[in-house]
Amino acid sequence: MRVFIDFDNTVTKGDVLNEMIGRYSISDDWMALEKAWQLGEISTKECLMGQMKGVRISRQELIKYLKTVRIDPYFSKLVDFLRMREIESSIVSDNFEPIIDIILENNGIKDFKICGNHLKIYKDRLFPSFPYQNPNCSFCAHCKKVHFMDDTHSKNNPIVYIGDGRSDICAAKEADVVFAKDTLLEYFKKHRLSCIEFNDLSGVYEYLNGLPFGLVSCRQPKLPSILYEKFE
Ligand SMILES: [Mg+2]
Repeated sequence: MRVFIDFDNTVTKGDVLNEMIGRYSISDDWMALEKAWQLGEISTKECLMGQMKGVRISRQELIKYLKTVRIDPYFSKLVDFLRMREIESSIVSDNFEPIIDIILENNGIKDFKICGNHLKIYKDRLFPSFPYQNPNCSFCAHCKKVHFMDDTHSKNNPIVYIGDGRSDICAAKEADVVFAKDTLLEYFKKHRLSCIEFNDLSGVYEYLNGLPFGLVSCRQPKLPSILYEKFE
């Protein structure tokens, strides 16, 4: 079993990247880009490139700002659980690796694998790059499914995906067990795809932790399939 976790609005409360862009942009152009992206008129990469171009923030300001970001308190419990069971897991995000790294460290999480977009900071300008973009996909900036669509992907090594947004749809559709909320949940319901609804990571943690050991380990990976289960 392998577990892949989205970051913004899944590990964090709210969309950290959007909030940062909104706060440090020199104009309102980022909003028009966001709207065009939501309507599917531009790709995620086009949107992020345009939005980051308008941001002015120094490294020191960025670090200071990120100190205010809090994560779901159950994320550290989930990380401990995954480590204890020796389950391969990582964050897969359209946010930027250095930003996620700083936030996790500020919240006491160290050495958790992060796969995100790349970012360089020069003076008060941010320069993004997209190492995981799929040239065959015009939508995603980070093709999240590349991290598990490999030789080891089989029903004997199921993929668990946890996410909330449009950038999770492609990857979640390829996963074996999906925890979904918000836009991702709406998409799965609309297309009648199996998923487990969650509100925050306490639901995911309680669910995985509540399964018998044999169901959630790297050695005997079998998970029950459940349609639209709602956590109380
Ligand atoms: Mg998200």
